[in-house]
Amino acid sequence: MSTSEAPKPADAEIDTQKQLDYWNSVEATPNGMLGGYEHISRIDIQGSKNFFAKLKLDRTPPLRIADCGAGIGRVTKNFLSKINSEVIVDIIEPVKKFTDEIAKPENFVEEKAAGKIGKIVNVGLETWTPEEKAYWIIWNQWCVGHLTDAALVEYLKRCAGGIKDGGMIVVKENISNCPDDVYDEIDSSVTRTDHKFRALFKEAGLRMVKTEVQRGMPSSLFQVRSYALQPN
Ligand code: SAH
Repeated sequence: MSTSEAPKPADAEIDTQKQLDYWNSVEATPNGMLGGYEHISRIDIQGSKNFFAKLKLDRTPPLRIADCGAGIGRVTKNFLSKINSEVIVDIIEPVKKFTDEIAKPENFVEEKAAGKIGKIVNVGLETWTPEEKAYWIIWNQWCVGHLTDAALVEYLKRCAGGIKDGGMIVVKENISNCPDDVYDEIDSSVTRTDHKFRALFKEAGLRMVKTEVQRGMPSSLFQVRSYALQPN
């Protein structure tokens, strides 16, 4: 008779303290944000701009954006704040040493035709609730792997309540090429399969408006996929 138990799901080992310890040990630079792959930032940002353009979102103000798990604000600085002069980007990021970089004026020189930084909120997404119907876009990149499946579903439901009519939730993440999700013990996160992501979006009551694989990434890295989501 077998005494073996069913294998634990990949997210069973997620440990918020371990995540914070890891990220607090990482340098507050683009290279730190991208695990040593700073050189992919340009192509990632270009891919995000292209994906966003295809969504053809209505641009009637207010255009408030949340950059979630924003780190040092790489996505905000290079893309979100530059959409137009009406945007205000709120930063949601648990690690204060990263957001301290965003607060430095030399890092965010106000450019003509660019938007502004709004609030900086130092919390993890598992505890963040957006204001009701406040956001035009809630952008989540390379951070939802820090949430368990159950926490991610609850978080996405809260996001659904936090976007204004016609707004969009975007999730851009690494995708597991294994049959199952993979736990990464270095930063205590999970890399999910495309299949798992779609199932969790459905469970959260979200409809997938568009999805696209990021082109031009080195083949040694995980595939990166963007999903645009709206409440059903
Ligand atoms: N989105 C940024 C940063 C990616 S690095 C970019 O693309 O450049 C991953 C980020 O997730 C780090 O800033 C890390 O501090 C943050 N993070 C870690 N745990 C988190 C959690 N529970 N909720 C939200 N963000 C978290």
